[in-house]
Amino acid sequence: MTEIRDVSSYLIGAWCPPDAEARPIHDAATGRQLARAGHGSLDTAGILRHAREVGGPALRQLSFHDRARMIKALAQHLDANKQALYDLSFSTGATLRDHAFDIDGGIGTLFVFASKARREMPDATVYVDGPVEALSRDGSFVGQHICTPLRGAAIHINAFNFPVWGMLEKLAPTWLAGMPAIVKPATATCHVTELAVRIMLDSGHVPDGALQLVCGGIGDMLDHVSGQDVISFTGSAETAARLRSTPAIQREATRFSAEQDSLNATILGPDVPPDAPEFDLFVSEVIREMTVKAGQKCTAIRRILVPADAIDPVITALCARLSRITIGAADDPETDMGPLVSSAQCADVRAKAALIASEAACVFGDPDAPPPVPGGAFFAPLLFFCRDPDAAHLVHETEAFGPVATLMPYRDLDHAVALANRGQGSLVASLITHDPEVARTVTLGAAACHGRIYLADRTTMKAGSGHGAPLPHMIHGGPGRAGGGEELGGIRAVLHYMQRTAVQGSPDMLRAITGRHVPGATPVPAPAHPFTRGFDALHIGETLETEARTVTLDDIETFAHFTGDTFYAHMDDAAAARNPFFPGRVAHGYLLLSFAAGLFVHPEEGPVLANTGLDALRFLKPVSPGDSVSVLLTVMSKTPRNPAYGEVRWHVKIKNQNAEPVAEYELLTMNAFDTPAA
Ligand code: NAP
Repeated sequence: MTEIRDVSSYLIGAWCPPDAEARPIHDAATGRQLARAGHGSLDTAGILRHAREVGGPALRQLSFHDRARMIKALAQHLDANKQALYDLSFSTGATLRDHAFDIDGGIGTLFVFASKARREMPDATVYVDGPVEALSRDGSFVGQHICTPLRGAAIHINAFNFPVWGMLEKLAPTWLAGMPAIVKPATATCHVTELAVRIMLDSGHVPDGALQLVCGGIGDMLDHVSGQDVISFTGSAETAARLRSTPAIQREATRFSAEQDSLNATILGPDVPPDAPEFDLFVSEVIREMTVKAGQKCTAIRRILVPADAIDPVITALCARLSRITIGAADDPETDMGPLVSSAQCADVRAKAALIASEAACVFGDPDAPPPVPGGAFFAPLLFFCRDPDAAHLVHETEAFGPVATLMPYRDLDHAVALANRGQGSLVASLITHDPEVARTVTLGAAACHGRIYLADRTTMKAGSGHGAPLPHMIHGGPGRAGGGEELGGIRAVLHYMQRTAVQGSPDMLRAITGRHVPGATPVPAPAHPFTRGFDALHIGETLETEARTVTLDDIETFAHFTGDTFYAHMDDAAAARNPFFPGRVAHGYLLLSFAAGLFVHPEEGPVLANTGLDALRFLKPVSPGDSVSVLLTVMSKTPRNPAYGEVRWHVKIKNQNAEPVAEYELLTMNAFDTPAA
């Protein structure tokens, strides 16, 4: 007899093996018990306390960049050890192709968040959301929205289908925000999650208390949540509804984000004939979505919407492709589709397919046929055709979480949109069309009911990520029956674990809090020209005030002829004066920028390595011949890029002889460290 493996939880800094009340975990292909997980009782208050009092403070003392480096190191460590995850994952029914989504996709998500955070977040502990708001005419009272980490724990309750990606896609933004996580994977596949947690903890990169793992039931943990905790749930609508109504969650207004069932649709554009490349693309998308993870994917295509006159060729093409799908052991390289996760899941899919069959004819497969491979949880694909999708209900409401999809005819684009929207809120809809007008009509009609719209045609064929793949850069979630939650979407996801606070006060106060220069704050005197000082030596608010320079008519003429910019406002006094913006001939804006650089640069070789761009440029007042301009150059923020140099954002204000601002912008430079960082 094969040994039954104990799947432990990692709680309050220690591994805790399952006890007598553990639940069984079965091999998807054979149905035999391979492991057990769970505990009769848990010190849930202690687990939450450990996260809040040990993990939270440890993470909060790190900057966003420190946390990003930690996540990158974990991604590298997981990547180096992923073969063990592959090997174990086969027991869940996942094939090598499925591992690319779950294991490689999860690791890739960590890499993307680590890199985006270092590019888009400051090397600080406060995230600034949006610009400084002027709340008074004289600029002495201003406002700024800031985001700081919530002081509680993030409880991640995950579905069985992505034991690795499901954990990592939530951990990355949670840790970046500075919150500790308590991960509760679905029991059916928690042995894979447990291994991923062991690999991460063994790396030594996870601070104490930042990660706990609860395998099996979660006990009464949700009765102890506070308004500083976050619950991020992925699973069925039924479980979400039950958990959402926990009295403590209601009483404490605990953030509860749900990603649940979704009846995702794909639409074949009316412009696509059977011989167009888009037709093959459409067929391939449907087949991939039906068979990757054996259709156990929240984003999988469940409803296939096709112009009424294209139904026959689509059925023929899909049936031909489905008949070539090889079903078998997940670890067999010849296998296209492995088993479902468990026999319970098979029974559930069979029952849901029976509901769909009451409204649609089966055109591929047989819902009553015996399993394609005996033993275990094998389930052959089923393709249904619903002739009258307007009269039908169950095909729009029943999520058979397996290789099951239903074809439906549509009359015109409005009808296609109406059918897609009958999912009552979905994670994703895809549209295969080569006509931008079709794309516009469908997107604007369906966007309110969908979290993501995937448009594909011959131009995206190579690079497109596919209907079903949530990308870390783009949001994942959907309204209504999809749960109303939102995950991923780059730095947006980090903010789900932070509190946004409106801070109002003087520019000096706001600068001290945010670590960014706020226009109007008292200048910090520069001990030397800032271009002579390394990245590490520069202080936020350090300001250089330059000499003034008079702009002459000759300067304007010379610049105009040298650059070729002889626009009438610079050359023709009468024409310029007829323009409502100018008193007569005025200096070019670009001439002012060039003169500003001439006033503030320090010419010698030094720590400034390159000018990498300008942001937020505004010309505020025209400059006439005879006016003189000077510049205030202020260090606004600093972002290290690597141990050798970092990006400095400078606030530049060009003013005239009356101290009126004539132009303002943010200048970006790369500056070397005086002392390279470790
Ligand atoms: P599920 O049965 O609702 O379970 C989801 C999670 O909730 C599991 O970790 C489960 O743990 C846990 N859970 C169940 N009852 C609980 C309770 N009383 N207290 C605390 N936790 C509890 O869903 P599933 O069968 O794992 O996943 C399939 C469903 O998830 C499908 O409907 C699919 O559409 C949806 N899904 C959605 C997304 C998305 O991103 N929108 C992604 C994947 C899946 P146990 O396993 O220990 O019961």
